[in-house]
Amino acid sequence: MENIEIPRRSKICAKNSEEFTPGSLYVSLLEKTKSGAFERFDYCTNCWDETIEKENKIFWRSQVPPKKEKKQENLTLIAKAFSFLENFQKNPKVEDQIQAFFFAELLARYKHLKRCQEIEDDNMKSKLVYEDPTDGRVFMIEKVDVSALTKEEIEKIKMDDERASG
Ligand SMILES: [Zn+2]
Repeated sequence: MENIEIPRRSKICAKNSEEFTPGSLYVSLLEKTKSGAFERFDYCTNCWDETIEKENKIFWRSQVPPKKEKKQENLTLIAKAFSFLENFQKNPKVEDQIQAFFFAELLARYKHLKRCQEIEDDNMKSKLVYEDPTDGRVFMIEKVDVSALTKEEIEKIKMDDERASG
């Protein structure tokens, strides 16, 4: 599998260096380089709205979380899901692809990740871009057609603590 890495969000605006602080709205733009890698530019909404060329670009709007909310959730599973995705990003394996997608969706449900964009790679496969709003790191995960999964594939998916630790 190809290993696509997207840099995490910058701490300042790419144009006028405004600092991103809790609550800041920003826009992230991806540009593909000649080598096929992605370059990332983050803009405050003022710079974005006034000066940045948007046509045919890959971008998404997001917000630095205003402050920590207390959520009822399974912290072990959240940590497990993040560490799975980090490993998957570094070393993507075809057999981990379905699990990676389900963990990314789980994290999105608990608002640890935001589903930002859907893009097509060079093989015309749909990839979803998920951003961790707290630090701006990004995971790019191939979209799984859930309705096309076999019973065996579904049984292998680990979505609760006990099975995820096995
Ligand atoms: Zn700016």
